[in-house]
Amino acid sequence: MDYQALFSAHIPADSILSRPDDLAFYGKDSAQQFKAAASLVLMPGTVEEIKKILAICNQNKIALVPSGGRTGYSGGATAEHGEVIISLARLHKIKSVDVSDRTMVCEPGVTTEAVRLEAAKHGLFYPVDFASKGSSHIAGNVATNAGGIRVIRYGNTRDWVLGLKVITAAGEELALNGALYKNATGYDLRNLFIGSEGTLGIITEVTLKLTSPPKDFTTALCGISDAAACLQLLRALRSAGCTVNVIEYFERNALELVVAHAGLLDPFRAAHAAYVLLEVETEFPAQRERFAELMLELVESKVLADAVVAESQKQQQNLMALRERISETIGRQHVPHKNDIAVPVSSLPQFLSAFRECLRANFPNFELIIFGHVGDGNLHVNILKPKGMDEKTFFAACDQVDTKTFEVVQKFNGTISAEHGVGLLKKPYLHFTRSAQEIELMKKIKRLFDPNGILNPGKIFD
Ligand SMILES: Cc1cc2nc3c(=O)[nH]c(=O)nc-3n(C[C@H](O)[C@H](O)[C@H](O)COP(=O)(O)OP(=O)(O)OC[C@H]3O[C@@H](n4cnc5c(N)ncnc54)[C@H](O)[C@@H]3O)c2cc1C
Repeated sequence: MDYQALFSAHIPADSILSRPDDLAFYGKDSAQQFKAAASLVLMPGTVEEIKKILAICNQNKIALVPSGGRTGYSGGATAEHGEVIISLARLHKIKSVDVSDRTMVCEPGVTTEAVRLEAAKHGLFYPVDFASKGSSHIAGNVATNAGGIRVIRYGNTRDWVLGLKVITAAGEELALNGALYKNATGYDLRNLFIGSEGTLGIITEVTLKLTSPPKDFTTALCGISDAAACLQLLRALRSAGCTVNVIEYFERNALELVVAHAGLLDPFRAAHAAYVLLEVETEFPAQRERFAELMLELVESKVLADAVVAESQKQQQNLMALRERISETIGRQHVPHKNDIAVPVSSLPQFLSAFRECLRANFPNFELIIFGHVGDGNLHVNILKPKGMDEKTFFAACDQVDTKTFEVVQKFNGTISAEHGVGLLKKPYLHFTRSAQEIELMKKIKRLFDPNGILNPGKIFD
């Protein structure tokens, strides 16, 4: 079928891209193991064009892959089998901010960072925050229910979405929940679309909830000997009545990597096995003093090996960068295979020991870089391709690693994907987290919204 001719009869020629470099660029997200093989890229400039595109695809059974900022790590925005890409990048306006209702209405292609900056202009705060915020789109965040470093205090994207507009596979618009904080009228379809990874409809408008900015805060970096210390630290902070905004874990080789390649400084004289980055609300000077004292007490009692408390905004930013630059630096310096698991918070240390033991026994040659949102029980486990091993062999071996990893995750009642989504990458392993009944129900829901299977087919499940 001549897709170009089919679409050019209905949408402007400059919305249709077919050059090989465009197909390669828009054809995949940040998961390195999948190759882009898109047929065409469509970049609609209006919702009417989106409706037409969907109607054409539905009528002709053309597979369509929704694409946002392409920062996803699961292959969700990847066209591997000649699908047509629909990029929402041209729809990037913030439509309105209502300061008294504390809401913001956005087009789908607004970046996460633009949402945060616009909220700040109005004295408000959008708390979803992660390293790819400058590139990821708000609709991509909704479609993956993105999390990040402030989930421990503020929750995931789901907690900040009041309403959605979506275009269904048939090309019809659904307006879900408007700007309502409360709406007890049956099933909440909005929540079905959050985390649906482009398989149920195209998100064309997002109404977000905003909040007050955090009060003053203090940032610290702690050196620790093992993951168990994180939990002792978290317990101590909570017992002392501290409000924790951020508690992030990373291991020594992650710090070495960002120090070597991202131009950052190690603030400690000695090397530590692992580190915890903390941001704690300290509205009053007394709270800041109490926090600094607590850090000292925890060092003296050997819960922490060492701690530095930032004294200036510049130091705060430097400490934060040590954690925030890890993911992109791994991507630049290595070929990684990524896992994004979560277990109940209190099981993390035992999980980590069992997981390391399993990897040591089965795959002793693979180097791991582990970091993550420890306060949510969420670890990003990056397996690095050994030098000299070709990518095909490496990724094939990672399939075996994943099976072993997810057996351990299952034993600890965890999830194979905490925040990156299932996409193509984790699809074979969905059964480790979801029961057969749940998967069957999800498939039925998919068929209800998309009977011809045109929306991101082959993602999450077959
Ligand atoms: C350096 C780095 C750090 C990261 N850190 C985090 C982190 O801390 N926490 C976290 O949660 N994620 C993190 N991510 C992953 C990623 O940024 C998130 O998954 C993000 O939400 C993806 O948004 P996107 O716009 O890039 O979506 P894409 O990658 O373009 O797409 C993601 C999914 O959404 C679907 N989609 C996109 N737009 C639409 C639409 N309009 N309608 C329907 N479906 C759509 C796609 O089909 C795909 O399935 C990180 C990524 C990088 C590169």
